[in-house]
Amino acid sequence: MRRWLADMFERWKHRNDPLDCPACKEKASPRTFLRGRYKTVSEPIACDRESCKQINSAVLWRAAAFTRIQREILEREVARLPR
Ligand SMILES: [Zn+2]
Repeated sequence: MRRWLADMFERWKHRNDPLDCPACKEKASPRTFLRGRYKTVSEPIACDRESCKQINSAVLWRAAAFTRIQREILEREVARLPR
């Protein structure tokens, strides 16, 4: 029972986290996002881009999106620096 609850919490906690494909670095399509948003760390998500079709675990999809967002924030900061 406890295990089941922990599993449900894990799925719920990350449901709004962005997903990027770790292979082609593209954002998940709306369809892939719907399919992948409730996956736990080790469950696979398949990229639906014709040129990619790679399968990676959900944690890698979330890490790829996190890395992109960090980079976008840094680029915005750099653009604001005086020259
Ligand atoms: Zn891909």
